[in-house]
Amino acid sequence: MKNEQNLLDLYVSKNTNREEYTKPIQKENHVIATCESTLIRIHRSLISGEYTFSEKPKTDHLFSGFDNAEIIEFSKDELNKLIEELPLIDEYFVHGKDILCEECNGDGEVTWEYKYHEKEFECPECYGSGYEQRQKYVETGKQIPDYEKGVLLGNKLIKGRYVKRLINTMDLVGINTISMKYNKNDVYKQALFVVSENIDVIIMPMIV
Ligand SMILES: [Zn+2]
Repeated sequence: MKNEQNLLDLYVSKNTNREEYTKPIQKENHVIATCESTLIRIHRSLISGEYTFSEKPKTDHLFSGFDNAEIIEFSKDELNKLIEELPLIDEYFVHGKDILCEECNGDGEVTWEYKYHEKEFECPECYGSGYEQRQKYVETGKQIPDYEKGVLLGNKLIKGRYVKRLINTMDLVGINTISMKYNKNDVYKQALFVVSENIDVIIMPMIV
């Protein structure tokens, strides 16, 4: 499948604390990639890459319970419009990185020993901040949608960032409409997006 790697990359976890989810995982009949809030499942008939087999995480249950689900279709234009309606925030980029102060190891305090006692003092190198250098948030002067806010799809409040991910998915697969299956009676249950016969996406709604 064209764009296989790009597609999986959209969904793998960027959180290095969850090392096991930072790469796609081979299951019996599918390859999945997940950041835990979103998941893509691609049937192996479309897959050409090699991925490590893993039982975990268990994902089959995420796809069940949709037999009597509601179905809505969204076009890419509709989804883009919903993204445009998100509140705007100032765009910024992160400059530099956090470097801990070597003198105090990030504590912000140093211990000075006297003959019979010791006393904590503010670190003279970092003036108590604990950092030698802090990353800076530099505003670009542009405004962008607040992708952390939710968009209502059916009865699901879906994070803007994930709606954007769906739009990217549609671009990579080359489709203009996507159907969403959802359970009317449970607003917090995951939504199932049918990308094609062999590709599905699961998105967890926001809990408010
Ligand atoms: Zn210091």
